[in-house]
Amino acid sequence: MEKNKKDNIACSVCGATQDSGVFFMYYNGIYICQDCLNKQGIYDTEDMELIAEENMPVNNPKKVIELKRPKEIKEILDSYVIGQDEAKKALSVAVYNHYRRINSLDDGEDVELQKSNVLLLGPSGCGKTLMAQVLAKSLNVPFAIADATTLTEAGYVGEDVENILLRLIQAADYDIKRAEHGIIYVDEIDKIARKSENPSITRDVSGEGVQQALLKILEGTEANVPPQGGRKHPQQEFIKLNTKNILFICGGAFDGIEKIIEKRSVKSSMGFNSDLSVKKAEKEDCYSKVLPRDLIRFGLIPELVGRLPVITTIDSLNEEALIRILTEPKNAIIKQYQKLLNFDGIKLTFTDDALKEVVKKAMERKMGARGLRGVLETIMTDIMFELSADNNIKEIVINEKVINGEAEPEIIMK
Ligand code: ADP
Repeated sequence: MEKNKKDNIACSVCGATQDSGVFFMYYNGIYICQDCLNKQGIYDTEDMELIAEENMPVNNPKKVIELKRPKEIKEILDSYVIGQDEAKKALSVAVYNHYRRINSLDDGEDVELQKSNVLLLGPSGCGKTLMAQVLAKSLNVPFAIADATTLTEAGYVGEDVENILLRLIQAADYDIKRAEHGIIYVDEIDKIARKSENPSITRDVSGEGVQQALLKILEGTEANVPPQGGRKHPQQEFIKLNTKNILFICGGAFDGIEKIIEKRSVKSSMGFNSDLSVKKAEKEDCYSKVLPRDLIRFGLIPELVGRLPVITTIDSLNEEALIRILTEPKNAIIKQYQKLLNFDGIKLTFTDDALKEVVKKAMERKMGARGLRGVLETIMTDIMFELSADNNIKEIVINEKVINGEAEPEIIMK
C-alpha cells in the first residue's frame, strides 16, 4: 500500500476528489480517501484489501455516480438524439440537479432539495424513451422502462407498480444501492388520465387508482418488491427498496391537450387579441405552452403533477430531421447496416434520393422515427439474405427505386 497524491483521482467509496484536500490510499487499482478509511476504522493493509475488493471497479462499477455538468450531458445526448434541443437542455439540467442533490445528501447537507422528476410531452416515436435511455447510459446508472397502460392498482388484474421497481433492481444486477440511484422511464403516462374531471363518482380502476400508486413511488417510499415479480404473497420475502432518489422521467403524447391549452389562452387573451389566425399559428407550438393546470384538466391528479416539477416538450420530426436520424447518430440505422455488411467486406451505399424515399415512407406510417427501421428492415433483410455471403461483391448501391420495390440494388463486383 502506498500513499498517493495524483491529480484527477476520486475516492471509490464516497467520490471525493483530490481537490477536497484529503489524502488517498491506493490499493490494487482503487483509491480510498482518508475520511472513508477513518469512518470505517481502517488502519492496516488487510482491512484495506477487504474494502478494495468491495469497491473494485471491475466487480462493482461505479458505486457513486460520477457527476457530469449539464453541458457535458447535453453533448452526449446530442450524439444520439437529433433535434429536441429544448428538451435536451431541460433534461440535462434536471438530471444534473438530481444527482447533485443525491451527492449533497451523502454529504449530510441539511437543505432538502426537491427531487426533479421530469414530464416529457410530445408525439410518439420522436425520442422521449431514447433520451431517458441515453441519460442513464451516460451516467452509468441502471435504467428501466415501464408502460403506464399495463399498470393497475394493487389487487386488480394487471401489473403492480412494484414490478417496475423489480425491473430496475434487475437492471442493477440486484445491487440495491445502485438501483436506488437509477432512472425509470414511465411511458404513456397520459393513458392513465382520469376520464372525467369529476373524480370518484364511479370507481376508476385504470385511471386515478394507478396514478395514486405511481405517486407513492414517485414521491419516495420504502417499497416492498416481490423478488419474482407478479402478485405479492404473504409468505414471500420482499426486497426493500427506497425510491426517494430514483429519478422518474414520465412521457406521453397527451393527444387533445392542445384544445385545453388553446381554450385557456383564448380565454386569457379575450378583449386583447382574439385574432383567430394568430391562434392558429400558435397551435403548432402550443405544446410548449403547457402549464400544470392543463395537465390536471387533462386528467392527471394534482398530486402527481406536483411531483413532476420539470415539464418539457419535444417536437414532431420533419423530413430533414428524419434523414439526419437515418445517418448521423452514433448508432444510426444506416451506419448499423453498413457495419454489418462491412463484416463481409461489402460497402453499402444509399443515394440521397433513397434516403428521402425511406423517410417519405416512414412519414406515411405516422410513427415518428420508429417507422424508419420498419421501412428499411423489409428491404435490407432481402438484400442481406441474398447477397451478404457472396465473396465477389465489392459494393451495393441502393437508390429510391430499390426502396419502392421497382428495381434491384446495383451491385459492383470486385
Ligand atoms: P418515444 O418518443 O415514443 O419514446 P422513442 O424514443 O422510443 O420514441 O423512439 C423510437 C426510436 O426512433 C428510437 O429508438 C430511435 O431509434 C429513433 N428516434 C426517435 N427520435 C429520435 C431522435 N430525435 N433522434 C434520433 N433517433 C430518434
